[in-house]
This record gives sequence, C-alpha cells and structure tokens, in this order.
Amino acid sequence: MSRFVKDIRQKTIVKQHLDVRKEMNIFLGYQFYLEDYIINNTGVPRMKITDRIHGFMWQSLTVNNCNTYLINGATKILIDPGHKHLFDHVKKNLKTMGLELDDIDVALCTHGHPDHLEGLSLFKDLPARTAINETEWTFIQTMAPHLQSSMGMTLDGLAPDFLLTEGNLDIGDVHLQVFHTPGHSPGSVCLYWPDEKVLVSGDLIFKEGLGRTDLPGGDGDLIKQSIKRMAELDVELVLPGHGEIIAGADEVKANFDQLENYWFSVI
Ligand SMILES: [Zn+2]
Repeated sequence: MSRFVKDIRQKTIVKQHLDVRKEMNIFLGYQFYLEDYIINNTGVPRMKITDRIHGFMWQSLTVNNCNTYLINGATKILIDPGHKHLFDHVKKNLKTMGLELDDIDVALCTHGHPDHLEGLSLFKDLPARTAINETEWTFIQTMAPHLQSSMGMTLDGLAPDFLLTEGNLDIGDVHLQVFHTPGHSPGSVCLYWPDEKVLVSGDLIFKEGLGRTDLPGGDGDLIKQSIKRMAELDVELVLPGHGEIIAGADEVKANFDQLENYWFSVI
C-alpha cells in the first residue's frame, strides 16, 4: 500500500472513530476516545471504551481480524487475542499503556475460531492463565485434523490452564458471569460483567448482525436461543468480536429487536 493511500485510510479510520466519539458523547454520555492511533502506528486504534475497558478494534482481515479487549485495573484480563501472526498490534498497543504481555493475569477466548484463539498460544510460557470453554476445547480437539488441513491451525501451546463453564468467574476484583451461548460454535461463551453492564459477545451478536452458523458445529436454532438469553440481561454496552461496539441501553435493545425481527427469520 502506498504511503499516500495508507495516510488516507488512517485518516478515514480516525474520522470514523471521532464521529463515533461525538455521537456517543452527545447522546449517551459515554467517553470514547481514540488514543495513540497516529502516534503508536500499530495499525490498530486503541479505544478507551470505559475507565476499565480498552478495545483494540477490528480493522481488516490483514491487520488484526478480531476485536481484542483489555479489562485493565489491578487485574488485567485480555479477551480474544486474535490471530498469532497478527498479534503484534496487541503487544504494541499494550506498550503504549506501559504494559507488557507479562502483566496480563488472564487471557480468555470467547470461542475457538483461529481469528480469536490462536494468539493464546503466545501466553504458554508467560504468567497469564489462559482459558476457553470446556465444550469448545473438546470440540477443537475433535476437529484438530480438519483445522490443520483447512486453516493451517494447530493446537500447539493452546491447551488452556482452566476451562470456562457457565456461572460466576471471579478474577481479582472483576466479577464476571460466563454464559454458554452455542450456535456460532458449540462452546461459544459470552462474558457478562454486571457491575459495568457490559456484555462481551464474541461472534454471537454483532451490531446489526449475528455470527455465522454454517461453520462446523454451528447451529441456527441454538444461536437464536443463545441470543434470546442474552437479551434478558441488563446491558448497556455490547462488545462484539468484530465490528462496532453497541453502546447505550436503547441501542442494545434496538439491536436485539432487529436480530429477532429480521435475522431470526433468515437463519
Ligand atoms: Zn468465530
């Protein structure tokens, strides 16, 4: 990509994020702002979503390939590190916050697709404890030969330190609830943080969309059930695995309504 094209692209991305910030500040009172994008030159803007949550937001298939989130505080939790070969942006973005990979306490994945999971292997010899849902881990192991031949993905270094199951997950002062939400994959999970009214939805729920159900282990009926369960929660911020975040209780409700009224009929 020429320098000129790259500059234009960066400016467009920055503008989009600034527009989001403006809208959010006006209508919702959230304080999103773009940090360090031009300065750190990681190719991925870091967005401070709340005081405790930073997002390294999806840009393109060749840059990072999923949204990575950091819950930052006394406890540091990295969610969905993404592809291994595209992981550098996470390291660089952490560095802009004065953090190294050694500082991460726990690295979690919402599900086992390589664009979310692969980077977990980089924590194998680091202090962070790694985790994925138990059903997903069993499924991935079953699928290992296929994953290797179709996607070049191996399970090297991916064995989790602990398995996520439905229920409470207390990590330091962060009290999460794990919901097993199959449909996109058999062991997909959503992470709900009641104190912050935040739902990390993985590839279950997107802004104006939902996860694919045509991949191995996908299930259209299950994804509808999972989405309906999540619609019951008190949520003001949905952090999806790809695309834009959904902010504000009204926006979140409207998104659930759209999924049920439109997308459910076409699955
Ligand atoms: Zn996925």
